[in-house]
Amino acid sequence: MNSELLRKLPKIDELLNEEKIMRASEGLPRSQVKDALRKVIDEKRKLLLNDHADEEEVAYGRIVEEAVIAVTACGRKSLRRVINGTGVVLHTNLGRARLSRAAIEAVCEAAGNYSTLEYDPAAGCRGSRHDHVESVITRITGAEAAMVVNNNAAATMLCLAALGKGREIIISRGELVEIGGSFRIPEIMEESGAFLREVGTTNKTKYSDYEENIGENTGALLKVHTSNYKIIGFTEEVSLQELKQLAQAHHLPLIYDMGSGLLIGLEEVGISGPTVREGLTAGADVILFSGDKLLGGPQGGVIAGKKTYIEKMKRHPLARVLRVDKMTLAAMEATFRAYYDEERAMREIPVLSMLTKSGGLLEQEARELKRKIEEKNLGFDLRVEPSVGKVGGGSAPAAVLEGYAVSLSHGKIPVQIIEAALREGELPVIVRVSHDRILIDPRTMTEREQQETADKLEEIVKEKQR
Ligand SMILES: *Cc1c(COP(=O)(O)O)cnc(C)c1O
Repeated sequence: MNSELLRKLPKIDELLNEEKIMRASEGLPRSQVKDALRKVIDEKRKLLLNDHADEEEVAYGRIVEEAVIAVTACGRKSLRRVINGTGVVLHTNLGRARLSRAAIEAVCEAAGNYSTLEYDPAAGCRGSRHDHVESVITRITGAEAAMVVNNNAAATMLCLAALGKGREIIISRGELVEIGGSFRIPEIMEESGAFLREVGTTNKTKYSDYEENIGENTGALLKVHTSNYKIIGFTEEVSLQELKQLAQAHHLPLIYDMGSGLLIGLEEVGISGPTVREGLTAGADVILFSGDKLLGGPQGGVIAGKKTYIEKMKRHPLARVLRVDKMTLAAMEATFRAYYDEERAMREIPVLSMLTKSGGLLEQEARELKRKIEEKNLGFDLRVEPSVGKVGGGSAPAAVLEGYAVSLSHGKIPVQIIEAALREGELPVIVRVSHDRILIDPRTMTEREQQETADKLEEIVKEKQR
């Protein structure tokens, strides 16, 4: 019987002439469409050969339907927009910081035109790509000099290679951070050619631990902000001010990896820790931080501090390896410029405005989202509930962002099916599931995205109830 069905499987050319498939493949290269169709048919053939398919599964109509889905999918960009309904502001998997309007425009301008990237129009001669961001970063942070590399991991690598190669870098055992993926402070150090000198214990490191370990071959003192965990209880760490005295007495640079680039204090939402300016004032000679965490800019590693050290890093061969593109520089400059006026930064930089949305506003937004879904009469059980958002990106794990979410369930469609369907298609909507209900947090959504989410839920219900 299977051989009969095998023979009846449609040919690629047959499918190519199918109205629905022709429509789905508009604008796509023919070879790509053929590949997608071949995959669908091969899959069916395999099922038949293994006796895993019944007649319904290889019915012509069903194959056409699946082919339309496959062709549509191959026309989609892989890196594309999603809606973040999780309430996690710096969601690393979803691209961390959303850029400000000004930064987006700067990227487009730099990308589509020739630019002053390494050209000084006033002098009519070659300029430095570092200049565009250096003056704005130094003005905002109070640092003497600054540069930007690919990300904070790269900044750490360059800094250690330039200031500590072949020498010992002293770091507390309480600060040997793993950020995720393959970023572990000890491993980065090894790659940079510097040697790690761990001092103190996991929970307690004292001034004397640093002092007793300084020797002939010490290259620098390194302090790392434990941005993604917190050690509580019986603990002790040495402050930046104290470390500064020690570093000065021994003529050593004090490097501070801050992780997140906090430029404005955000205590009101539970994000504590010094700002970059405070870190420099407290005595760090070089500060390293990410561009796409609390700063709210593009991926990048910002290095700010004493000119002698920054110059060394700019001249290091790794600087070329780790250098950033014009689009990153454009976005970085625009992001920092917003900080000239703190109120403007809070308003215009999405990361900051999303983190500091008031409870009242979040409740109002949740009600609005609920209304948008409700008015479609889809049979959802909808509620507005208190919900806790997160900073994300390994920043401020202890911060609790109180807010509101819309929670929903459906009498006829299981929550898991709805959640999976939300992730499908051209515009995935990413949500949380808790206590057998879908949670959609408006903190990380725009008004347009609320509407798109409601529209998508409508599509899903219609599709499942067909
Ligand atoms: C996030 C983080 C890094 C890595 O930064 P990327 O920009 O993601 O490379 C390094 N150090 C600390 C302390 C961090 O929090």
